[in-house]
Formats: sequence, structure tokens, C-alpha cells
Amino acid sequence: MARLRLLILGGTLEASALARRVADEHAIAALLSLAGATADPAPAPVPQRVGGFGGPEGLAAYLDAERIDAVVDATHPFAAHISANAAAACRATDTPLVVFGRPPWIREPDDRWVEVATIDEAVSALGATPETVFLTQGRLQLAAFARAPQHRYVVRAIDQPAEIDALSDFKLILARGPFSLPDELALMQREGIETLVTKNSGGRATYPKIEAARALGIEVVVVRRPPAPEAETLYDLDAVMAWIDSHAPAP
Ligand code: NAP
Repeated sequence: MARLRLLILGGTLEASALARRVADEHAIAALLSLAGATADPAPAPVPQRVGGFGGPEGLAAYLDAERIDAVVDATHPFAAHISANAAAACRATDTPLVVFGRPPWIREPDDRWVEVATIDEAVSALGATPETVFLTQGRLQLAAFARAPQHRYVVRAIDQPAEIDALSDFKLILARGPFSLPDELALMQREGIETLVTKNSGGRATYPKIEAARALGIEVVVVRRPPAPEAETLYDLDAVMAWIDSHAPAP
């Protein structure tokens, strides 16, 4: 029986969940692709490759060379370059593409959100009064907060961020999510967090920090998402599996 050659663009919990789900499906030969952003990625249950493809042309050439039948873009909602590249490469090679995304978080009545468009705007939104600020927006763009040295920063990241030394007053917490609501409540109380900075990553896995901030009355500076990728988007693993099955090669 011909197997469906599936490329999963990953780097997220959704991609890992999909990889686990297809690992035992004999009809699917899956390959998980990572950017190489994390030094020690979690072990994958399917073969994986690491590193960029070389833009949309490089990805298109890869899809041809590896005879990929379908692509699932399960990258992070803020990873806009790879999603645009995937859309262009799949269009150019006529390869079916679906985005396995996360619905954005929606502000609830008790949330104290300040929504901004960029990390630079997030820095400005912190204001002049010194505060303890919890940074969870990822290892990139930390240096932007050097512009607001009046604050104490609690930074959570998977690996030591290259830009961390740009901050004059910080505490680094190295940890890999997901984090539970009790963990987030305990951390925010222990560290005396007054403001949380986060991207609107969406989905359940990292939502407990939003719930903890709501429960504690903490202000949250939320960076809005970049424009959505130009492809059909599904939010549910079962729906993604049905989409994959619908692209199975004819026996
Ligand atoms: P990005 O700006 O969209 O991508 C930058 C470049 O990295 C892409 O042009 C591509 O290089 C390469 N790349 C990205 N994802 C790749 C993948 N899955 N496989 C192979 N190459 C990939 O992305 P980013 O924001 O730097 O994020 C990098 C990775 O971290 C993504 O895979 C994303 O899922 C994950 N991640 C990102 C965030 C975030 O907040 N941005 C959060 C959690 C996880 P070429 O052009 O050379 O192909």
C-alpha cells in the first residue's frame, strides 16, 4: 500500500501531539521539521529534520525532492515567515497544505489587558513606575526591554536566552511548558509579579498564565497576532487527522 508522505512543520505542542498521533499509522510516513531554535528539543516519535529550508524556493525544492504528498503547518502563530513560506511553496508545487492552529485568546470581563501590536509597544506600555514584570514572550526580542531598566524582569524560557544580559535586573527561570494553573499562581505570587507580558499565542496549553493573572488582578500586556497564514486552518487534532486521511494516495 502506498504511504502518504506527510511533512509536519513543528516547534509547538500541537505538532508534537500530531506526530504522536500519526506515529503508529502505517498508512502515513511522517517527518517532523524543526527550525533548530531549541538546543535540546523533546524527543519525537517520528523521524525529524532540523534547520531552515532556505526560503520558499528551498522549501518547494524540498517538497519535490522528498516527494511530500501533504503538509501540515503546525508552527507557532507568531512564526509568520515559515507559514508564509509554506503557503508559497505548497502553491508552487501544488502540494495540499493545512494549518493546525490555535484559536486566539479572547479577553474576558475580569481580564486587565493592554493590547499592543509589537514587542516595542509592549515595552512602552509598561510605563515609568518600577514594577516586577513577568516576560513569557519567548527568547527573542528580550533586548527591547533594556529600554525600560526601571523594571525588574522575571524571564521564563526553555534555553538560556542570548539577549538576557541586555537586562540589568532580571531573574531567569529555565522551564519547558505546559504549566498548570496552580503552578502559575504560585510563581506569580512568589515572584511578586505586577505585570505579565505575553503574545496572544492562543490555545489551552499556555492559557493558565492568563487565568492566573485574571485571578490575581495582574495587568497583562498582550501582543496581538500577525496576520493569519493564507491556508485552511483547523484547530482540532481529529479534524487535522481527517484532512490528512482525505489526502491519502489512491491504493
Ligand atoms: P519564523 O520567523 O517564521 O521563521 C524563521 C525561519 O526559520 C524560517 O524562514 C525558516 O527558515 C525557519 N523555520 C521556522 N520554522 C521552521 C520549521 N518548523 N522547520 C524548518 N525551518 C523552520 O519563526 P520563528 O518565530 O523564528 O520560530 C521558529 C520556530 O520556533 C518555529 O518552528 C515555531 O513553530 C517555533 N516557535 C516559535 C514561537 C514564536 O513565538 N515565534 C514560539 C514557540 C515556538 P527558511 O526560510 O530557511 O526555511
